[in-house]
Amino acid sequence: MKPSPFQYHVPLTVDDAVTILNNVAPDDGHILAGGQSLVPTMAYRMANPAHLVDINRVAGVDSVGVDNGHLSIGCLVRHAAFETPVIDGPIGDLLPKVCHHIAHYPIRRRGTFCGSLAHADPASEWCLVATTLNAIIELRSVRGTRMVAADDFFEGMMSTARAENEMLVSVRLPLMKETERFGFFEFSRRAGDFGLTMVLAVYELAGGSIVNPRIGLGGVEDRPSRNAAAEQILAGSAPSDAVFVAAAEAASASVEPMEDIHAPASYRRHLVKAGVLSALRQTVQ
Ligand SMILES: Cc1cc2nc3c(=O)[nH]c(=O)nc-3n(C[C@H](O)[C@H](O)[C@H](O)COP(=O)(O)OP(=O)(O)OC[C@H]3O[C@@H](n4cnc5c(N)ncnc54)[C@H](O)[C@@H]3O)c2cc1C
Repeated sequence: MKPSPFQYHVPLTVDDAVTILNNVAPDDGHILAGGQSLVPTMAYRMANPAHLVDINRVAGVDSVGVDNGHLSIGCLVRHAAFETPVIDGPIGDLLPKVCHHIAHYPIRRRGTFCGSLAHADPASEWCLVATTLNAIIELRSVRGTRMVAADDFFEGMMSTARAENEMLVSVRLPLMKETERFGFFEFSRRAGDFGLTMVLAVYELAGGSIVNPRIGLGGVEDRPSRNAAAEQILAGSAPSDAVFVAAAEAASASVEPMEDIHAPASYRRHLVKAGVLSALRQTVQ
């Protein structure tokens, strides 16, 4: 690896990290977490930060816990922490199912959940989970703490509401009820590649009807999003293949997919239909 020269800072507390970040951010200073996105871009000299604030020795931010109805995930919790359930119940089952699609095991051992959110790749699995489940993101700066809903956090391709002097300290995922069901779909060309399309379907079943449906799409547009067209069809209906097909067709018709070297827009549109249907069918299996 041959990055440009940079100054290296190693804070031991969140307060120190935030203070250093505040000082160096205007001079192209950035946080280094797992390094699995930042370091490759430095090696290629696509990123040339003047300062790196390495948070890997910061105390008290490497655990997962339950806090006021949320699963709270500190900013040093690695992807691999979710290879097996961290908690009983639907969300404990959901996270490993998604985690196995992220990159390869060595990358999952270093990369962090919160680093993925900060990086905001539209094809990031954790960004999709955060958006679909209405996560709350904790940002800390020298001025204090602010909590931002995932829906407001992701602003576009690798672009977020985080100011350059703010550290993402934790993310809070609302716990899922026992009556909630989920299905997850991802299509990528090879195991470990970023997904071309991902779908997370979550809903509650009450009195035989679908309540509070959430259809999240990732890798399709410039940021993860919920699909209102599909959710409207599902809400209040009894789960059936006919309803699922209608929701999948509505989702596919309503998206404006990206076009890149990996796939034309028409291919991603097709994947949305197949993915929504697959994710919904899993909810009744
Ligand atoms: C070969 C390969 C395949 C991959 N495949 C996938 C995949 O399929 N799905 C997927 O989601 N990801 C994939 N990744 C990316 C990987 O998941 C990264 O771990 C993740 O994107 C970033 O997390 P990190 O902790 O490594 O962050 P870093 O690389 O350290 O940082 C990334 C960016 O986020 C900022 N940042 C990090 N943490 C914070 C924080 N706490 N506060 C403020 N800013 C912060 C950094 O300043 C930097 O700009 C892949 C990576 C590689 C190398």
